[in-house]
Amino acid sequence: MPNEVQFAGTKAEVCQRAKAIRSQYFKDKMSVNDFLSSIMDENNGNVQYSDTVERGETLKVNADGSFVIYLSNATSQLRDNFTIAHELGHYFLHTDIKAPGDCIHTRRGSNRKEWEANWFAAELLMPAEEFTAAAKEHNNNAYRLATLFEVSPSAAMVRLTALNLD
Ligand SMILES: [Zn+2]
Repeated sequence: MPNEVQFAGTKAEVCQRAKAIRSQYFKDKMSVNDFLSSIMDENNGNVQYSDTVERGETLKVNADGSFVIYLSNATSQLRDNFTIAHELGHYFLHTDIKAPGDCIHTRRGSNRKEWEANWFAAELLMPAEEFTAAAKEHNNNAYRLATLFEVSPSAAMVRLTALNLD
């Protein structure tokens, strides 16, 4: 894959990239769906649903810089939100769109790029400051936090742990 970037930076740098994207696209009271759609629209990206599990939860970036995020029909909207944010992480962190050629990222695996995409997604959807304040308000209740941030309860639990709030 000629146009893949192997390593995006430190955790702090990755979170900084996510914060910058969020401040560019997130408008007050926006739903997560509208937020993610606005990022994709501005960057020539779209979502396609697939019945085959292997195709689901992958990102394909075309030579012209446009991209498709494939989701499985079998997953929930809340899980899909995090998957889209994760794949956007690969798009912004790991894709050199100036280099020609297609590339594909999946959600599977546990290499450095997957960690970076997860850090990006967590900060994009559950910004550390807002999440910490909300966790305090809701007594670290992962289900309440999941509803509030439109992610799955398991994603909210991981975020609580990552921010040392549990
Ligand atoms: Zn991935």
